[in-house]
Amino acid sequence: MDDGGWWRVPSWPLWQLPAPAVAYVLTVETAAIAAAAAIATAAPVHSQDLLTFGVLAACSVVHLQASRRIERVRRVTTGGPQVDLTSIWLVAAVCCLPPLLVLGMVVLTRGQRWLAFDRPPHRNWFSAASITCAACAASGVLVAVGHRPPPMTDVPGSLAELAVLTAASVVYWVAQLVLVGGAIGLTTPRARLVDLVGDLELNAIDVATVCLGVLVSIALTHAPLVILFGVPVAVVLHRAILVRQFENDARCDAKTGLANTVHWRQIARKELATAARRDDGVGLLIIDLDHFKHLNDRYGHLAGDDVLRAVADALRAEVPDFDFVARFGGEEFSILVPGVHSQTSLLHTGERIRRTLERLTVAVTGDRGDPAVVGVTASVGAAMFPDHALNLDDLLRTADTALYAAKRGGRNRTCLAADPLRRPA
Ligand code: GH3
Ligand code: MG
Ligand code: MG
Repeated sequence: MDDGGWWRVPSWPLWQLPAPAVAYVLTVETAAIAAAAAIATAAPVHSQDLLTFGVLAACSVVHLQASRRIERVRRVTTGGPQVDLTSIWLVAAVCCLPPLLVLGMVVLTRGQRWLAFDRPPHRNWFSAASITCAACAASGVLVAVGHRPPPMTDVPGSLAELAVLTAASVVYWVAQLVLVGGAIGLTTPRARLVDLVGDLELNAIDVATVCLGVLVSIALTHAPLVILFGVPVAVVLHRAILVRQFENDARCDAKTGLANTVHWRQIARKELATAARRDDGVGLLIIDLDHFKHLNDRYGHLAGDDVLRAVADALRAEVPDFDFVARFGGEEFSILVPGVHSQTSLLHTGERIRRTLERLTVAVTGDRGDPAVVGVTASVGAAMFPDHALNLDDLLRTADTALYAAKRGGRNRTCLAADPLRRPA
C-alpha cells in the first residue's frame, strides 16, 4: 500500500470518499459482520458438507486461477461491466451448504481475488461485505424455511425445492444489486439508473451466473462429478464478458469515456432517419475549446488531458444520454440534440453548454509540479436538421462553418448556421 501501511487509519483512502459514502460503507461492513455472526451457527455442519465444500472450493480455485489473465485484462480496460463470476460458486454454496461453510466460501473466493489484484483495500472490504450480506440473506431464506439439501445420492428435489432455491438466488442477486448500486450512487455524481444497476445485458449475465450456481448445487446433490462440467462453462462465460467489454470500449473514446466518432455517427444517422420519419428536428452542436494549444504550452499535455476529461464530464452532465455526446477530435466535441423544435431553442442549448464550460474550473498540476486552477472557454457551431442540411455529412459541414464563424467573431460564443434550406411548402 502506498500510504505506508493499513494500520495508519487516518491515511486510509476510504476517508477521501464523500461523508455519506463513508457512512454507507461502514454500515454495510458492520451489517456484514452482524449477519455473519448471527447466521454462522444457524445450521450444523456435517462431514458430508465438508466433502461438498471441498469439491466446490476446488472448482472455484480452478476457475478463478484459469481466469486470472482474463480478469487482469478486464480490470485495465475502461469502465467495463462489473460482473462477479465468483457468484457461481457462492450461490452453489448457499444452495447446498450450511451458513458457516457459505462464509468459508466467501473468504476463499474473495481471498483469491484479493491476492491476485491490487485494489484500494476499502474496495476489497466493501465487496467482501456486500457479498457476505447477500450470502447471509440468501442462506437466511433457506434456514428460515428449514431447507436441508438432500444427501448427494438423493433423487432430484421437488418443484417446491426448486422454488426455495430460486427464492434464495433472487435474494442473493437483488441484495448484491442494491448494495453495490448504493455505493456507486453515493460516489458517482449524477449517476443514472443504468450506472447504478448496470444495463440489461449485464444483468442477464448476472442472472446466468446465478442460474449456473443453482445448477452446480443441484449437480452436487445428485452426481457430484458432473460439477466438473461447470468449470469450463464458468471460464468461457468469463471470456464472454471480455468480448462484451471490448465492444463497449470500441464505442468509447479512451481518454474521456465519451462516445467516439464512429459510434456517434452511427447513432446520429439513426436519429436523423427517425426524425425524418416523424417530421421532427435534430440539432447538432460542435464545440471547440478556445486556444487550447496555449493551455498545453503553459501547463503541459497531462494538464491538458485533465482539462479535456473535466470538459467531457461537464458535457456528459449536460447531455444525459451517453450516445449523444462524442469526442470528435483533439479538443473538439459534438453533441446531438434530438427533438429540438426551433433554431432559437438550439441556440439557447448551445449557449447554455458554452456558459457551463465558461464556469468550469479544473485543478491541474503543471509541468514542473506547480499546482494551478485553470478555466476554458469554447466556441460552438450549431446547425439543425432539416433546416440547414438533410443528411449527416452536410449537417456536420454546416455546423463546422458556423463554428469557424464563432472563432472569427472573437471565440467564446455560439453561432448558428446561416442560410436555412428552403423547405417545400
Ligand atoms: P482555437 O481557439 O483556434 O481552436 O485554438 P486551439 O489552440 O484550440 O486550436 P489548435 O487547432 O491550434 O490546437 C489544438 C490543440 O489541441 C493542439 C493540440 O496539442 C491539442 N490537443 C489535441 N488533442 C489533445 C489531447 O488529447 N490532449 C491534449 N493535452 N491536447 C490535445
Ligand atoms: Mg480544434
Ligand atoms: Mg481549439
